[in-house]
Amino acid sequence: MLLPLAKGISVLMPNAPNFYPYCICMYIEGEQRAVIDFGAGIKAFEEIDKKSVDIGILTHNHPDHTHCGVLFTDTRLYTGKEGEQSYSSEENYLKLRGFGLWKQFMGDKPLPVADDTLRIYKDIPGKPGFIKLDLAGTITDRQQFDLGRGIRFTAVHLPGHCIDHYGFYFEKEGILFAGDIDTTRGGPWYGDGCSNVGQFIKSVQLIKEIDPHIFASSHRRPLTEHIGQSLDTYLGVMMDREQQIYDLLREPHTIEQMAEYQLAFKKRIFYMEDFWERLYVHHHLQHLMELGAVVEIQSGIFRQA
Ligand SMILES: [Zn+2]
Repeated sequence: MLLPLAKGISVLMPNAPNFYPYCICMYIEGEQRAVIDFGAGIKAFEEIDKKSVDIGILTHNHPDHTHCGVLFTDTRLYTGKEGEQSYSSEENYLKLRGFGLWKQFMGDKPLPVADDTLRIYKDIPGKPGFIKLDLAGTITDRQQFDLGRGIRFTAVHLPGHCIDHYGFYFEKEGILFAGDIDTTRGGPWYGDGCSNVGQFIKSVQLIKEIDPHIFASSHRRPLTEHIGQSLDTYLGVMMDREQQIYDLLREPHTIEQMAEYQLAFKKRIFYMEDFWERLYVHHHLQHLMELGAVVEIQSGIFRQA
């Protein structure tokens, strides 16, 4: 369902009660037409004349944002330069996801196999995981787009969720589309190899400085009120976890031992939580060490400084 935010600027809501493994996308109509993100599902995209879309932009390379990109065969696709190679090379894609750390964190446990037999995947082209897309080019921070008829927007690099994560700001209308900085109740997600706690904090601060009137994002309906407060609550989930980790480090711990507290993933409903739990701890430790609050006293053992 298309939900207009301003003249020529709409969000496309997935045709599903639960927004994952879908994402809310944007549809923008000037003289040229553009779509931002491609995770709304086959059914939702039937509302758009795909052949008429000139430009497609991907906020980042996570499958719930890219899977319908393969349906837009006449559209020029762009993404942040930081993620460029991950659309052509599965090896690069898996590296960004953090699988280079699998052996270190998970030992001899076999790599997970995604369940692609779920009914939901009838509405999603391709299988979960790496999706190959041909890009027409890349974008960089502060790059301007002018689609004609007064529709302009600017790319804003918002790393932290992952290194190639971008938002898009429509200054005249005061609309920011912030991708997976989505103010959902679970708080930030930072379980990639290229996630970064310090960058996540800075990206949220930058959004607060931009101070949009309408805050649209990938997994929650657009907000028009209490945007700053929602961002604070959201970031607070991550910062509370960091405080818990810091407190536990009064005593020396390994990443494995810290992961046993299950500070991030209480339930194991998906196949990756054990790995992500360790990656979260790893990213918090990196941030706490950058701050000088934690030290690695021996290889793999951490404690308050
Ligand atoms: Zn994502």
